[in-house]
Amino acid sequence: MEDYLVKAASDDFSFTVSIAITTKLVERAREVHETSRLATAALGRALSLVSIMGTDLEGRQTVSLQIISNGPLKGLFVQSDASGNVRGYIKNPYIELPPNEIGNIDVESGIGKSGYLYVVKDLGFGSPYIGITPLVKGGIATDLAHYFYTSEQTPSVVAAGTYIGPNGRVEASGGMIGRILPGTSFDKIEILEERLNSLPPLSELIRELGSVESILKLIFGSIPYMILEKRSIRYHCPCSKERAKTTLILLGKEELSSILEEGFTEVTCIFCGARYYFNKEELEEIIASIE
Ligand SMILES: [Zn+2]
Repeated sequence: MEDYLVKAASDDFSFTVSIAITTKLVERAREVHETSRLATAALGRALSLVSIMGTDLEGRQTVSLQIISNGPLKGLFVQSDASGNVRGYIKNPYIELPPNEIGNIDVESGIGKSGYLYVVKDLGFGSPYIGITPLVKGGIATDLAHYFYTSEQTPSVVAAGTYIGPNGRVEASGGMIGRILPGTSFDKIEILEERLNSLPPLSELIRELGSVESILKLIFGSIPYMILEKRSIRYHCPCSKERAKTTLILLGKEELSSILEEGFTEVTCIFCGARYYFNKEELEEIIASIE
């Protein structure tokens, strides 16, 4: 089954629930970055949530989540475009920690409780919008819910989980964002929160039910709802030699001249590991193009 997400709304538009199944794309991220179980779990949560945030975009817009924190993983960066292409990396991909007190992968300690969550939206109108909130828990989902509440004044319920099999491979992964729409009465907010919070962990639901549609049925129960959007999502990096060239240009003439002395350079993409080779002539051309 390919990864996909579905956005649904209650009939009266008092709230929306978006759920993404991200098993394949998180497994792809694990292969690319050779992440430990801890790093896979952390990166998996972030990739799942940013893929849902991508549904608010259009055209060439992008949304990114960045965490800079004091835990041993140090932080991560994930990004989605408007077409369901998601990519990301984690600062310390090989770190492992003992399980937490209930025997689960300890993402909270891996990320750490002290640090910041940055939400960067490049909407294509000049400088990007940047929202920053301090981390409240380090588990990513709660931190993002805190961001929605404090920066966007949207009460929300956020969950994400990645189940990793004994061989270290991703067997189930997903994310969910439930949002209360403006003007909704307090009792409806309570009903939604109660329902979403009483569910088993999301990765368990994905393993048991297998489809977003059946999870939505379980969440909405007798509340009438409609599907607003369904789209496929994937791990994809749009890098190219042309973009790698831009990175080199940003280094400036002086730095490039010292690279030129070595005769060649190679730019490795931090998101997908692709390598772009530039020979002496190409480097000279780039230096000559800088004013
Ligand atoms: Zn790339």
